[in-house]
Amino acid sequence: MNYSLAFANRDVWVYIFIPQDTFQKALLESFLSYLKHFCQYQIIDRIDCARNFNKPNNILIFLVSSLANFKCLEKLRFLDVSLNIVAYFLYTEEFKKVDRKEFRAPIKALSFNIIYPDRYQRGLFYPNNQKIIDTVYYKSVRNKYKNIKIGDDITTYTHLTSKQQFFKIREIGLYFKEMKLNDTDRVAGAIAIRFRNGVLINASRTDKYNITEDRICYVEKYIPKSNEIYWVGTHTPSSETAVAFLAFQDFPFANILLHFHDKRMTYTPQLTQYRTDKYVTYGTPGEAKAIVRKLKETKNFAIAHGHGEFLIASDLAEARAYITKIISMIT
Ligand SMILES: [Zn+2]
Repeated sequence: MNYSLAFANRDVWVYIFIPQDTFQKALLESFLSYLKHFCQYQIIDRIDCARNFNKPNNILIFLVSSLANFKCLEKLRFLDVSLNIVAYFLYTEEFKKVDRKEFRAPIKALSFNIIYPDRYQRGLFYPNNQKIIDTVYYKSVRNKYKNIKIGDDITTYTHLTSKQQFFKIREIGLYFKEMKLNDTDRVAGAIAIRFRNGVLINASRTDKYNITEDRICYVEKYIPKSNEIYWVGTHTPSSETAVAFLAFQDFPFANILLHFHDKRMTYTPQLTQYRTDKYVTYGTPGEAKAIVRKLKETKNFAIAHGHGEFLIASDLAEARAYITKIISMIT
């Protein structure tokens, strides 16, 4: 699926510092050849406060190669109307074992978004070029599906009260909090439960540690061929709706699907058997198929390479037991 068209609604301008060392230069070249399918870019030799980078309604992406370059950017001020993103440009490192204590919180900047590979004390993890494009997409356009809203209120639409199901979703969110399953980005991830012939799922960018009723959507239908989602609610549903829909079709006895980002699990070689062979771009029918294939292979648990975890279960008690088992395998 080509989603560069959605970027075309907003001009994307990428300003790039040429990194100093040769290893990063190779990485840069590979990224540039990838980037040209998505947008225009310009290579610059210094980050200059006097330069006017402001382009209303555009997405500006700066790629930097080091923390020193990042410090130069901090002094820049942008127009509020532009979405500014800084991407670190780093190297790949495979880890022997990943410990949560080693995971470092991402750097935050006041006036712009940052894309960073996952940072650890011993180094940085840069999965691939598609992940950088995906992160820009996630922070700007966000959802890749075609959203077709068919109603505002779930109870009115389905003639069923969804209160009980809402509390179930909220309870799973509190379980995420208890287990720190989504600490790196609380609004990422997804919680879906089977509801009639469809799925109840959190809205996109919902804080999983405190889910409120207005953040729940009912998705009645998903059409993989056109990547269309027919939904009821106030806010657009999670990007992982497609995975939930296809997983519930293939697992008739399952009622919940959980998606979270626990860095201990994502990168550790001890869980290789659960991991997809390659990075799969999020929010597409291709991702949904790749995840469901892995869930079937392992019976219930999959790790999207360089991204995060998916678990299918009949209820929260079963999910809890399985996650406890996974944690015991890596600690
Ligand atoms: Zn995710």
